[in-house]
Amino acid sequence: VGVTGIRRWHAEHAWLPGQGVATDVLIEASHGRFTAVTTGTRRPADATSLPGLTLPGFANAHSHAFHRALRSVTGGSDFWGWRSVMYSVAERLDPDSYHRLARAVYAEMALAGISCVGEFHYVHDGTNAYGHVLMEAAREAGLRITLLDTCYLTSGVSGEPVTGVQRRFSDGTADGWLRRVSEFGAVPPHGRLGAAIHSVRAVPPAGMRVVAGWAHEQAAPLHAHLSEQPAENQDCLAAYGQTPAAVLDSAGALGPRATMVHATHLTSDDVRLLGESQTTCCFCPTTEADLGDGIGPSLALSDAGAPLSLGSDGHAVIDPLQEARLLEWGQRYVLGRRGVFPMTSLGAAATSAGHACLGWPDAGEIVPGAHADLVTVDLASVRTATGARRVGPAGPGAPDIGADGLLATVFLAATAADIRHVVISGRDVVHDGRHLLIPDVAAELATAIGAVL
Ligand SMILES: [Zn+2]
Repeated sequence: VGVTGIRRWHAEHAWLPGQGVATDVLIEASHGRFTAVTTGTRRPADATSLPGLTLPGFANAHSHAFHRALRSVTGGSDFWGWRSVMYSVAERLDPDSYHRLARAVYAEMALAGISCVGEFHYVHDGTNAYGHVLMEAAREAGLRITLLDTCYLTSGVSGEPVTGVQRRFSDGTADGWLRRVSEFGAVPPHGRLGAAIHSVRAVPPAGMRVVAGWAHEQAAPLHAHLSEQPAENQDCLAAYGQTPAAVLDSAGALGPRATMVHATHLTSDDVRLLGESQTTCCFCPTTEADLGDGIGPSLALSDAGAPLSLGSDGHAVIDPLQEARLLEWGQRYVLGRRGVFPMTSLGAAATSAGHACLGWPDAGEIVPGAHADLVTVDLASVRTATGARRVGPAGPGAPDIGADGLLATVFLAATAADIRHVVISGRDVVHDGRHLLIPDVAAELATAIGAVL
């Protein structure tokens, strides 16, 4: 993805670590990395102008690309009903149709400001062909990707065998998974290979240990779905006498390189376990709303020491700003108060914490040395326009909206439709709201989805 040569952008406003929102920011990059960030300076003639608020690139820490096909499907009255519809799409995927679909979905992500996707990948027929296709789809759409190659062995906590389309998810045994992942081959520069334990339903503890062992050995990210549904917890308690978080902990699957996705139905012991082990918790609030999963204890987890990241999971929408908003609003519903997370915490969940949990700790901040990812949000759209002065000394007239106000405008009111420019590893991928590599993303989505529905 990276490009050689020196690039310069001049941001009207930019969110910088430790400084809040700065004004008139000259941002320079070379070979896909930031080299210098200078505030309060005029635009040099050769710098691309970025009017609005510029943020680091967003990380989508949890995606199943093919679920995008289900967006307009209303079937299934709950999670389990929805899952059976999802299985019927999984049945029809082949490497070609999956390539076209993923490329269009990743292009939609770029338009929403996402510079790196964590693909929790489980439809593989026991081969690496699909994994390579997904990496290629991300490259064509201009994104970096962490392929979280998923172990899936059983259809229930008691070791029930996989049936029907689930057979496409299985490597037979954990050693089969290990053998396949070890044979993945070369990983391109825009990619990373990570591991995933699908859930306590799909991998017994002995298998979890094999997957976690590989991830530790490779210093690779390790992800798992955790306690999305109460039924999963009940089955797990019945089988092991422990919660899913405790079972995963006993198998060595928690820790600073691990990410637990959803973390919806937790005990206070689970929260302590996840916080003390510094396990990242990835919330997917629009999907959790769409499926009626519930609202997980994100504030308690964060207070306990767990970093938070965000994912679009089933792609009910692809919009990191809406995920961040619903993370905050979910806690407002539950706790009955406003201002639960500082705006900078919502920003960190969408950016630095997300990239870090995908194995890219050198991305997600506008600082020299980091991947040169930028997202510019329009501050003059129908959603973001305000009469308040954005910057400048206090004086008569309109009140100063301030740095927090600017971030609040973006995280609580803007949508993906307000994203004007996206730079990924130093390369312009979206300009004026248009994808520069894939001219008609909507048409590609329609064609690709039509082929698998
Ligand atoms: Zn998921």
